[in-house]
Amino acid sequence: MIVYKSAEEIELMRQSSQLVSKTLGMLAPYIQPGVTTLELDRMAEEFIRDHKAIPGFLGLYNFPNTLCTSVNDQVVHGIPNNKPLLEGDIVSVDCGVLMNDFYGDHAFTFPVGEISPEVAQLLRVTRESLELAIEKVKPGNRIGDVSYSIQQHTEAYGYGVVRELVGHGLGRNMHEDPEVPNYGKKGTGKKIQEGLVLAIEPMINMGTRRIRQLKDGWTIVTADGKPSAHFEHNVAILNGETIVLSTYAYIEQALELQVR
Ligand code: MG
Ligand code: MG
Repeated sequence: MIVYKSAEEIELMRQSSQLVSKTLGMLAPYIQPGVTTLELDRMAEEFIRDHKAIPGFLGLYNFPNTLCTSVNDQVVHGIPNNKPLLEGDIVSVDCGVLMNDFYGDHAFTFPVGEISPEVAQLLRVTRESLELAIEKVKPGNRIGDVSYSIQQHTEAYGYGVVRELVGHGLGRNMHEDPEVPNYGKKGTGKKIQEGLVLAIEPMINMGTRRIRQLKDGWTIVTADGKPSAHFEHNVAILNGETIVLSTYAYIEQALELQVR
């Protein structure tokens, strides 16, 4: 059952999503060779609690941390650890918060230092597929239109679209209906209408779409060991318009400052 949100609820959700955006922006300058994902996790937890919110993933389905940090061939659900990141790695940082009873849930894949052109293209194309998907989130369209646009754009590069994990509705629960697969057929699925709030999250592999789970019971990795990228935004329909509740502006500001 889809829970449609009022304008007031969408405003609260925007605040939750924006806190995730600010958390990712706060982390961005620290994502350098030598930092550990556990250090990033501690910074994120402190930042979220300082903003009078609760880490959304910590304890959810018994997940042990604030962030999911997925390095290189890890697709999603990586558990932060003490291993330093290395030059040329990529790390997908997925973060959730619970504030005013509503969840925000959003992710970005960061390069660690200089990365290869092939991996840079994977990040660019995955992010583009998220932007194209958001353009399809409008009243009268269907979830399948969103799904199709992601699959179409990324498979054109020969990339593998993960099937087993999907985007979702978002609200008072982290995972609500409807599911938003990253593959599908145009004109199929639930209709997009006023009050719908979605977390759209392409998970795109450089090689095979096949995945497996590590023995830790969480981490999802690519079956062929090639890298994977993950970008996620929260999107709502309010007054007939598409509103992106989350933003990468804080990350972009932080990374630009670093270059100077
Ligand atoms: Mg997420
Ligand atoms: Mg999500």
